[in-house]
Amino acid sequence: MGLVAALLGSLGCGRGGETPSRPAEGGVAAELGVASGVAAGEASMGAEEGPAAAQPPAATPPAEDGAAPADEAAETPDKPLVVTIVIGSFAEDLRDAVEAGLRESLPIEVRRGPTWDLPKSAYYPPRRRYRADTLIDLLSEAAREDREHPEVRYLGLTSVDISTTKGRHKDWGIFGLAFSPGQGAVISSHRLKKKAKGREHVAFRVTNTAIHEIGHSLGLAHCAEPRCPMQDAEGSIANTDSSDQVLGPECAALLAGGG
Ligand SMILES: [Zn+2]
Ligand SMILES: [Zn+2]
Repeated sequence: MGLVAALLGSLGCGRGGETPSRPAEGGVAAELGVASGVAAGEASMGAEEGPAAAQPPAATPPAEDGAAPADEAAETPDKPLVVTIVIGSFAEDLRDAVEAGLRESLPIEVRRGPTWDLPKSAYYPPRRRYRADTLIDLLSEAAREDREHPEVRYLGLTSVDISTTKGRHKDWGIFGLAFSPGQGAVISSHRLKKKAKGREHVAFRVTNTAIHEIGHSLGLAHCAEPRCPMQDAEGSIANTDSSDQVLGPECAALLAGGG
């Protein structure tokens, strides 16, 4: 089944900002190991329920046979397409910032998609959070079923707290999560609002997190380049705040080379 096949891709990261109740060595190590070695952690995701109600609206029908102008094909973007999907709610000004920032920082096209209800299957009652791994499963599945846009990536935007399992932490609050490479990614503004200096600062963080997760979905791993948005969050907000939202030379070269 398609869902299981997709889970064989590796998870981009549990980009997290949770302050652990004890030293976060386990969590940090897991985050550092994300680029190459999360496959083992993914078997546990295979049992998640597949999507049921969270489908995007029907795509517009294709052009009539023979009616399309000859140059229409030339307008077809060859850049990867990212569609933003609000899950539950997400502030409009932050969504504007995310979409503009993605266009500016990555060689992609960005379009605005629908709003989904928060899926009950992702809710984690003990912490009153939504499981990011379930959300990206739903997003990936819907993206794969988007016949009008093959290879499209769906980026979920939400204001609820999201979490994933990280090392010994069964439910670890995070900023965002993505498959790498893959078609589903999700970010949350919930933790990024904490201790922010103002609205622009929140927008900056949310945008940087979106760039980071879509970078993963395009195949980028974490890097050690100063101020690159693909730096590992390492369990804190510091690397997000110090990013200049421009890919470093290594990451830019990887994307340009298709690698
Ligand atoms: Zn990451
Ligand atoms: Zn980099």
